[in-house]
Amino acid sequence: MSESNSNSSLTRRNLIKGAAIGAVASGITTLTSNESVAQQSYEAIVIGTGFGGSIAALALNAQNKKVLLIERGTFWVTPETLGKPPASAVPPLTKWAADHNMRVQYWPRPDHALGLMDLLDNRYHRGNPYGLHNYRTFRQAHVLTASGVGGGSLIYSNVNLRAKDAVLQRIGLTGIDYNRAERFMEAYRGKLSAVVTKIPLPPGVAPEQLGEKDYLLLDRSRALRDAAAIVAPQLGVAMPWSPIKLSVTEYVHVVGSESDATHTFCERQGRCMIGCLPQARHTLNKTLYKFILSKNTSVTLTPESEVRTIKRVGDAYEVTYLDRRGDNFFGQPVTVRAPQVFLASGVLGTTEILLRSRDAGGLQLSGELGRGFSTNGDFGALAVGTKRTDGSKMTVYPTRGPINTCDVRLEINGKHFTVEDCGIPSMFARVVRTGLDDRKMLLTLANPAVFANGPALQFGKRDPHQTEAEMIDDVFFFNVMGEDDASGKFTLNGNELDLNWDQPIGNHPVFAQIEDILRGLSQAMGGTYTPLPTWDGLPFVFDPKTLIVTHPLGGCRIGPTMANGVVNEFGEVYDGSKKSTDPKAVHPGLYIVDGSVIPGALAANPTLTISAQALKAVERAVAPLPNL
Ligand SMILES: Cc1cc2nc3c(=O)[nH]c(=O)nc-3n(C[C@H](O)[C@H](O)[C@H](O)COP(=O)(O)OP(=O)(O)OC[C@H]3O[C@@H](n4cnc5c(N)ncnc54)[C@H](O)[C@@H]3O)c2cc1C
Ligand code: SF4
Repeated sequence: MSESNSNSSLTRRNLIKGAAIGAVASGITTLTSNESVAQQSYEAIVIGTGFGGSIAALALNAQNKKVLLIERGTFWVTPETLGKPPASAVPPLTKWAADHNMRVQYWPRPDHALGLMDLLDNRYHRGNPYGLHNYRTFRQAHVLTASGVGGGSLIYSNVNLRAKDAVLQRIGLTGIDYNRAERFMEAYRGKLSAVVTKIPLPPGVAPEQLGEKDYLLLDRSRALRDAAAIVAPQLGVAMPWSPIKLSVTEYVHVVGSESDATHTFCERQGRCMIGCLPQARHTLNKTLYKFILSKNTSVTLTPESEVRTIKRVGDAYEVTYLDRRGDNFFGQPVTVRAPQVFLASGVLGTTEILLRSRDAGGLQLSGELGRGFSTNGDFGALAVGTKRTDGSKMTVYPTRGPINTCDVRLEINGKHFTVEDCGIPSMFARVVRTGLDDRKMLLTLANPAVFANGPALQFGKRDPHQTEAEMIDDVFFFNVMGEDDASGKFTLNGNELDLNWDQPIGNHPVFAQIEDILRGLSQAMGGTYTPLPTWDGLPFVFDPKTLIVTHPLGGCRIGPTMANGVVNEFGEVYDGSKKSTDPKAVHPGLYIVDGSVIPGALAANPTLTISAQALKAVERAVAPLPNL
């Protein structure tokens, strides 16, 4: 299990050291950690490499701009290599990062106990700024995001979904071109695929038309389809079932197809959100590598660098960040300057940077900053003990297939909902089984080492021969989205972001409606509706009705003037110093292109909408992206 590179000899699962001293090879320029770069100037600075940041970087790069791309996290890749590779046995991105002395970290091991340890070890937090999963525990809601080159694409479930027109209208989001956003996904990432069957279907066969061969569907995909058909007439609404368009390579029996060219494709390993070992997911680190990093461009990437503040100086901006490369945990402060700055640090990152910049006197902003946070109506729950109508066990195998494979969309009294199946990676099977059998045992999770190695492990493993897949083979996991009223408010508590609501968000009617829908679907599956422990509450751990939000939105939302928004419809940041004279005045060249601008719940997975909005903003600020 060990591997060395030219700089250091480290265990493979550790990391490749990123001192980056003087490492300037062909292609991209890298800043050195100890170099003084204060006041270095660029034509544009992009902060964050998620969906919005990648779109901004691609557009700026296409115009040959001198750009600094600042990313808090590092590279995350698969440790596995191809048996019969198309070219080199080492994935090019891994080699490139190592050649440039950039840190490379690996997805958790497939081994369940050690994989769980990897996952916990790799969490992002103040004590581990090189981590990946950023699980923020605000009082009423826990928010999960990613930190790394590629942003949320590293841990997301690959779903491309359009919000309904009525929802976009209700929240006042205009000019969203989903066709173009889908063209972006395919032109710059890879073909969108439906992965809803156990094996890839031959060309021309649609998963909706399998008929008697629908045993080929993944069991949980079929279970959701069949349950929706039972519940729709009970609720008196349409509940159409559809395979989802995923940013995942599916195996296709055609010469020259994506899977043929790359030798990578979805192997139904059921762990998209903790890293795809066969490299089938279209993560944005691959996009950045293919279109920017591997070419001789004037874009400079500085990973492991956290932006703290932005200050307006005349018609340009000074961005100050902490460069943590080379295990410089506390970071070296660096200040750089550009006339154009694109904030793309996600809901939490961008809101925090702007709150801090405002408080430091660097930027005058709208009084709406921090308001309008939406949970997107995110809700998770289980149907436990799924059964057929004759009472026999109905297996749904949540450990197999991509995390989300299909959806059911419905409208009740004008409000929209999306219900998706959700996979449970094998490494969580014991935790889930244990929690279902005795919730109190979950308290041992306070010490993960005790949980993984101690009595909890045996407690969950009732049959010594039971596989992880069997432990939870009759547990269906629902992933639901609805419409809340975007009433959360971010503030800075000292140096830390805080999130609160005037009224408890768990009491919002959308969640009661979702629970009603899920009770019906659980019953139709012959299972028992079972909320997550966070919703039920666990003494000393979670308050009842604590939400887990994976699709955070808002905080810097779009509004027609600065009286009701932080940015205009093109992501231009309103200039608070002109509040009384010109409520539409903007800071020239300062843009937000991430999920923080979305002005309300989408009742759908948000990246297609975030990308469409970013394309709209970037087209105005820079130029349209080529080939769309
Ligand atoms: C488990 C999970 C599954 C999901 N599945 C889906 C799905 O299937 N489909 C879907 O549409 N959505 C999904 N999402 C949501 C999706 O990931 C986010 O909506 C999306 O990534 C947001 O994009 P963004 O451009 O706003 O920011 P992000 O993608 O979050 O990117 C922000 C980037 O900025 C960096 N950053 C933050 N602060 C700083 C700073 N101070 N300085 C420098 N860099 C900084 C971060 O490290 C990150 O790389 C999922 C989310 C999770 C957690
Ligand atoms: S199911 Fe497994 S193989 Fe398929 S995309 Fe997800 S992680 Fe990759």
